[in-house]
This record gives sequence, structure tokens and C-alpha cells, in this order.
Amino acid sequence: MIQQSNNINTRKCQEALIADSDVEYLKNYVDKHGLYPLFQQVLIETRTDCNNNCPFCPHHFNAKPLGIMNWETYKLIIDDLVNIGFSGRVALMVSNEPLLEERLIDMIAYAKSKTARLFLDITTNGKILTLDLIDELFLHGLDNININDYRGDRTSYPDKISSNLTPIAVAYKNNPKLTIQKRSFDEQLPNYGGNIPQKNSFEADYGFCNFPFRKLVIDYSGNTILCCNDFMSETNMGNVHDKSLIECWNDTIFNQYRDALLRHERIGLCSRCNDCQDYNVFI
Ligand code: SF4
Ligand code: SF4
Repeated sequence: MIQQSNNINTRKCQEALIADSDVEYLKNYVDKHGLYPLFQQVLIETRTDCNNNCPFCPHHFNAKPLGIMNWETYKLIIDDLVNIGFSGRVALMVSNEPLLEERLIDMIAYAKSKTARLFLDITTNGKILTLDLIDELFLHGLDNININDYRGDRTSYPDKISSNLTPIAVAYKNNPKLTIQKRSFDEQLPNYGGNIPQKNSFEADYGFCNFPFRKLVIDYSGNTILCCNDFMSETNMGNVHDKSLIECWNDTIFNQYRDALLRHERIGLCSRCNDCQDYNVFI
């Protein structure tokens, strides 16, 4: 499920936002410690599909086979996060629709039974969301839900909310755990590592990107991948059945991507990507 809102063709690197302080921080950190700081967020692809067909989404351009995460794989990830005392955001989706996951409530309940520290989060297109379901999700321990209400008539009706979401908006209007974004099918996002064909994508030198320094992305098979722009899982930093999450995070190939980004160079998948997450997040 795509979270970023962006109405321009590519996100240009803006001078005022360039992450010089993050680049220096990360260089100094790895020099001092011999490894990069631990991930701040984890994204888990519980399954691969979506029930929407937004024209700007990599699903629209790539036939991604259906994959569903094994329960054992999910438990392994949560148990490892508990073991290392992780306390950040855990998103139960990557670029898929999380409400298609029939075990979603069980997944939330399992994580919450193991620790109070995880911040469990989903972003959904809301197409199959009901007020009863949202109540159930929160009752079982979901911490946050972001609803992207994609519509084809957004230009004519900028404030319209889809009919199934109206009772939810009313019931949760003062609750910060739930947000509804009024999105449009006319948006254009970055090219997802070349997974969305775009003309004139590489006019800029895109340089640094902070994604692989702060988020660990795990696909449905348990492979850890470079970032959520790796829509077809071309990269693999190790499988959670073979390596711990920390070992995957410190994988040699992962570090080669990071080392290159700190030199403002883009290698492999990054060389085809016009995403530009270059704002400061560390300091
Ligand atoms: S709802 Fe999200 S994941 Fe599904 S097609 Fe639209 S942007 Fe892609
Ligand atoms: S530049 Fe590389 S790490 Fe950053 S979003 Fe693109 S593919 Fe991912």
C-alpha cells in the first residue's frame, strides 16, 4: 500500500532538504561502530496482492504473483523483534492491501501478546473496511491505521469520502489513531526502482536516499529486501529462516548499497530509482 502523497512526476531533491547532517552522522557512526545504526521501522509483506488498480502503482505495471507469508515466518519475525527489544513501528504491509490478509487480527493479537512495545500500523485503501472491522482491529491491538481513499473524481470533489468510510470518519473523528487521506487516481509517484515506467525520470542527480538506513523490509517469503521500492523482490539480504534480523540488516550487500548512497552514488536497483528520500531523519 503506497503511503506517500505526491502530485509531481518525480520528487526533486530540494536544496533546503538535502540531508547533509544525516550523511555526516551515518558516516561517523559506521566509522566509529563498524556497522550502521539499527533499523527504526520494520515492514512485513504478509501477502503480495491488492484489490485496487491505481494507475500510478507498480501493481499496474507488473504482474506480481500471489504470495502469502507462512505463519511460522511471521512468528519468527515477531519473536526476533521481541528478543532484540525492538520498540518501533511495525507495518503489517509493504506495497499490498493489508485487509486482504485473513489472519490480520491473529497477527496483531500475536504481536501484542508478546510485547507492548511494538507500534503496529497499517495503511489501507479502505475498500473493504467497515466500522465493525476497524473496531475489531483496534480492540486486538492495532495502534494506527492510515486510510488512503483513492478516487477518480477527486478533482471535482476534493473533500468527498467514499460511502463505506463515512461512518468510520464520523465514529473516529476525534481519534488520532485513524486518518483518512483524500487521494486521487491521477497522482504520480516516484518510479519504484524502475517498476513504474516514466519518461524523463533521470534529469536530476538523485544521490543520497535514507530508506535503507532506517527501514527493514521483509517480503512474504521471509527475504529481507533493499526497500519497498523493490516491488518484485530483486534484492535479497538474507531470509529470516536462515539469519537473524540483525544479521540481515548488517548483510554485506545491504552495506554496499548504503556505502554507495553515502557517496551519493546509486548502484543496482538504486541506479534505476528516482525516489529521493533525502530529508534528515537522524539528527
Ligand atoms: S491501493 Fe495502494 S497498493 Fe493497491 S493499487 Fe492502489 S496504490 Fe497500489
Ligand atoms: S534510491 Fe535505492 S534505497 Fe532509495 S528508494 Fe530508491 S531503490 Fe530504494
